[in-house]
Amino acid sequence: MKTKIWSCLVFHKLLYLKRMDDCIFCKIVKKEVPTKYLYESKNLIVIPDINPAADVHILIIPKEHISTFVDIKKEHKDLILEMVEVAQKFIKEKGVEKKYKMIFNGGSFQLVPHLHWHLVGGDFRKEAV
Ligand code: 5GP
Ligand code: ZN
Repeated sequence: MKTKIWSCLVFHKLLYLKRMDDCIFCKIVKKEVPTKYLYESKNLIVIPDINPAADVHILIIPKEHISTFVDIKKEHKDLILEMVEVAQKFIKEKGVEKKYKMIFNGGSFQLVPHLHWHLVGGDFRKEAV
């Protein structure tokens, strides 16, 4: 029974590592993909969206592979507060206080399964973010 539980845990850990290996944002966090970094701290990075939907379109990305918004837990509270502070800083720096949206996509709306917060501001080039 114990062996079964252990092999199950190992299997799930391997699946998790495989997901992170395939994850484009984990690769960007590890600097394995050439990307412009607008900001970096111990816990997160900020990068421009590769396919901007508006004048300003940046992504605030935790370094930890958290899959989706619904996977955020109490233990992430410092990270989430830092994401909010960094978002406020970029809203001000980019001068979009009068016209911006902050978006978490989820489910079939989420294309990259690594938590990220869109800051879109200014004039929109397309509707969907
Ligand atoms: P989602 O639908 O998952 O919320 O949006 C993912 C966003 O990530 C999209 O807006 C897409 O343009 C952006 N994106 C996907 N791959 C890359 C990449 O390799 N580099 C950057 N900078 N953005 C990416
Ligand atoms: Zn990831």
